[in-house]
Amino acid sequence: MLNLAVLGSGSSGNSALVCLGDTRILIDAGLSARQLCSRLEVVGVDPDSISAVVLTHEHGDHTRGLEVFCRKRRISVYATTHTCAVVREGITAPVLWKQFEAGAGFKINGVEVESFSVPHDAVDPVGFLFRCGKSSLGVLSDVGHVTRMIVDRLKGVDTLFTEANYDDVLLQNDTKRPWATKQRISNRHGHLSNEQTAELVTEIAGPNLTRVVLGHLSSDCNTPELAASVISKRLREQGLTDVSVECAGRDAPLPLRPVVHEFLYQARISEEISAKSARVCESRPAVSGSSSPSAPEWNQTEWAF
Ligand SMILES: [Zn+2]
Ligand SMILES: [Zn+2]
Repeated sequence: MLNLAVLGSGSSGNSALVCLGDTRILIDAGLSARQLCSRLEVVGVDPDSISAVVLTHEHGDHTRGLEVFCRKRRISVYATTHTCAVVREGITAPVLWKQFEAGAGFKINGVEVESFSVPHDAVDPVGFLFRCGKSSLGVLSDVGHVTRMIVDRLKGVDTLFTEANYDDVLLQNDTKRPWATKQRISNRHGHLSNEQTAELVTEIAGPNLTRVVLGHLSSDCNTPELAASVISKRLREQGLTDVSVECAGRDAPLPLRPVVHEFLYQARISEEISAKSARVCESRPAVSGSSSPSAPEWNQTEWAF
């Protein structure tokens, strides 16, 4: 099953980790290489065991540590062609670039990765959907507004890791930021407010939704308590009272946890096995007087699940 940890999240640097057994994928590398290494160790992962990095977009808070982290390690870095063109300009280390077009899917060992375009002021920003077997994780960072495609791609995920950048009132009342910066944050290619994130969560929430992790919280214009309460309230209004909502922070990692409750995951596996058995039984021809599995009419390969 997929597991998610968030190494750090906020305007000072973003990086998360998706694991499936020995496959360990960093989502963005916006912390310093030293911080990436120490926080990976905190969550129990050897930095030298990272299999790949996938990039959402080229902004420094998502790519700052990439070069140094990759310098001594042969790690594949997946990025869209346009994002790659920008990021590689500032990198002299020999990086194994794996380019894809926004909207394309690819596989990293046993993990299926689907990408989709998102509106943000970067050259070719994307979100990701990670799947393996019966578990799925949606990742959305730095998005100005929620599009129909984002909702379609993330509908039904088990865990959603999404930004909840600012509270509308706190941003409006903020005295540190000039008007132009506030407008850049809140425009259609900036970041999501708590209310926009709440709307997104209610649109994509299905019976599978186990966990919502909020990230990229503004240090001045949001608080973890406020962001979590806005999203939790909207989930409760939809009758989804069992979904855990937590915030990733800037200074310490959120530990590795499965994207689905273990008991739900096991129930899904059992259901699948029962459904397959039922299908095979239905497809068996009626054999009078014998139920021997060696009857020649049986297709033995159907039993191989
Ligand atoms: Zn950005
Ligand atoms: Zn960012």
